[in-house]
Amino acid sequence: MEKNISVAIDGPAAAGKSTVAKKVASILGFTYIDTGAMYRAFTYAVIKAGLDPQSEAQSNSLIPSVSIELAEGGKVFCNGEDVTRAIREPLVSGNVSYIASYKEIRLAMVDMQRKMAESKSVVMDGRDIGTYVLPKASVKIFQIASVETRAERRFKENQEKGIPTTYEEVVADVKKRDYIDSHRAFAPLSQAEDAVALDTSNLTIEESVEAVLKIIADKTGLEVPCH
Ligand code: C5P
Repeated sequence: MEKNISVAIDGPAAAGKSTVAKKVASILGFTYIDTGAMYRAFTYAVIKAGLDPQSEAQSNSLIPSVSIELAEGGKVFCNGEDVTRAIREPLVSGNVSYIASYKEIRLAMVDMQRKMAESKSVVMDGRDIGTYVLPKASVKIFQIASVETRAERRFKENQEKGIPTTYEEVVADVKKRDYIDSHRAFAPLSQAEDAVALDTSNLTIEESVEAVLKIIADKTGLEVPCH
């Protein structure tokens, strides 16, 4: 029997990975790790420092001085500042894929992500978890949904959080990020050979959670607690 179980959930932008991953982690008593929030926090730091996120050299220069913490309750801190809400703003969303395409920054983030998964059972969501960060993950899921479904979900989520965006802006952002994420040279978004594909276009959140729990139970033999 494996000691720690690691569940990797990858997929394109706004496919509902974090919503599902958070619930699955809570049901199983695992730690949820939102790797996208780490790239977002780094992007926030670059913009706050008055640097250009589209300049690799300027962005890389912050690597030694940026500290990112994923705290209890989903809070995200960057150099001690609570950036949980700020990292969801359009300025960060529109620039994060540039930051995430820089190899040196990815290596720094991946190092932290691997350390977080070393000593405990985790559900980690991102773009390269099954292919690069945790290639030996116990369970790998590639979660997808149509662009329209993803944009509608993200638009609704932004409205609930009071983040001002139009539906058209959300569609453009999702498409742009998917393009950059899949075409970057280092650790691009792609489905791991041994990942199970899960299309949530026609599934509710609860159905998606149940589907993920079933995949985990089938792969690991873990008994899912009543929930
Ligand atoms: O998951 P989320 O959409 O918040 O991620 C924001 C961005 O961070 C993605 O569009 C992608 O550019 C980058 N990312 C990444 N690798 C990860 C997680 C996120 O490149 N493991």
